Amino acid sequence: MSERVLIPIVVGNKVLSEGSDGVGQSIDPATGQVVAEFARAGAAEVDMAVAAAREAFDNGPWRRMRPFERGRILHRIGELMLQKRDEIARKESMDSGKPLRDSYWEVDCSARFFEFYGGACDKLHGASIPLGPDWSDWTVKEPIGVSLHIIPWNYPFQLIARGVAPALAAGCAVIIKPSADTPVTAYEFVKICQEAGLPDGLVNLVNGRGSVAGDLLAKHKGVDQITFTGSVPTGERVLVAAASHAIPCNMELGGKSPQILFADADLDKSLPIIAGGFLTHCGQVCNAGTRLFVERSIHDDVVDRLHARIKAMNLGAGVDDPDMGPLIGKAQKADVERYFEIARKDGELLLGADVPTSPELANGAFVRPALVVGASNDTQIAREEIFGPVLTVIPFDTAEEAVAGANDSPFGLVAGIHTSNINKALGVGEKLRVGQVWINSFGVGLDVEFPFGGYKLSGFGREKGLEALGAYQQIKNIAIHHPLG
Ligand code: NAD
Repeated sequence: MSERVLIPIVVGNKVLSEGSDGVGQSIDPATGQVVAEFARAGAAEVDMAVAAAREAFDNGPWRRMRPFERGRILHRIGELMLQKRDEIARKESMDSGKPLRDSYWEVDCSARFFEFYGGACDKLHGASIPLGPDWSDWTVKEPIGVSLHIIPWNYPFQLIARGVAPALAAGCAVIIKPSADTPVTAYEFVKICQEAGLPDGLVNLVNGRGSVAGDLLAKHKGVDQITFTGSVPTGERVLVAAASHAIPCNMELGGKSPQILFADADLDKSLPIIAGGFLTHCGQVCNAGTRLFVERSIHDDVVDRLHARIKAMNLGAGVDDPDMGPLIGKAQKADVERYFEIARKDGELLLGADVPTSPELANGAFVRPALVVGASNDTQIAREEIFGPVLTVIPFDTAEEAVAGANDSPFGLVAGIHTSNINKALGVGEKLRVGQVWINSFGVGLDVEFPFGGYKLSGFGREKGLEALGAYQQIKNIAIHHPLG
């Protein structure tokens, strides 16, 4: 680290360069070098952040403004993100390791959230409900209050925008708790909100350890709602904390998503999509498509083609925009290498374990992508979320068998179907127990307009689209009895 970069805690209009839980370091996963240090919040700063958010929500100007005025500020936040996209993307690639093009996507997608929900601010209608003569009845959508956003390390900037934009649009105040592995761009986010004219205290930043600051925030009686994105075990702890004061949660958890490839698909189009589905950000994506169900007649050809494709990939630091960057850190690398051993036990591992040895990658958390063949859907390698670039390829003979395999998982986040037969596409899509089905695709790019969320252990509640707003609203019903005589 050439000069000391310190990421502070931000509560209301105060920038705190020290926290009562000491100082943390964020590491560039490509080089092992320190990118930044950050102040770690303890009980005192958590209390200050909640007090600032409460004050902004209970007494601040946000709820007194007209909805279109709030919308203009949200639009301005999106504009500033696009103006600063180079700076934010470079910082994101150094902090999280992801290739630069993926960091640009994060910034662009974050700006889209602010455009989308900025436009929604003055359209948060209630309903008029007929009760018969002498009665009028209607509902009003009110902001839920102080909303806590607990963020993982894989999409540190975009996942803040995904939750905070609808929360602000609904009229809430928010507290952001970034991952201790990637605190850098959260501060850029908060500075942009301030520059855009967002009133003080509406967005507060609490850096720190999950087990300290995260836990204290989730239990805090001044918090009214939690949006958690992260792993299942942490999500369970957050749910217990939320239950201790009976507040609602959005839970965006893990996945082991299936991709189903029929023999009638156009392989030249499908295989790049399937590869992108498990390789993006080195496989560290909640909705990574890491189980490939492939019709038996094309199994060997598909394995050969995918193998050739991943073998040719170049690895490097995110800022150099390689085919694939590193994992988030050495602990994650050790975890993925443990799964290489499990893959060998459950089936045959192709590539993967051939960990890169070139000197420029020696200090980074690099692994090669891997294919696992010959492992059935009930093996450990096919059931657990790895969060690394590992695809398990499983043959099937009938569409029914593919559906049964795809659904036989503790998770249910997304699924992909590749076929040129419309009946198979729709028939299979209808039967999958997941929150999103992609047909001949696996994402549209800046997809903010439609809902996203999981079935089963992938969580509950919906992010994105107009559906996300519901998490940040209370519905009040008002009835008037008005007999004439
Ligand atoms: P994690 O569960 O380890 O941490 C997530 C966040 O929780 C971090 O900010 C962490 O500091 C905080 N935390 C840790 N302990 C806490 C506690 N006791 N109380 C409150 N907060 C606490 O997850 P991760 O390793 O950062 O991210 C990877 C996981 O996130 C994967 O399982 C992935 O599938 C999931 N994820 C899901 C989605 C989705 O939308 N469904 C998106 C991205 C990532």
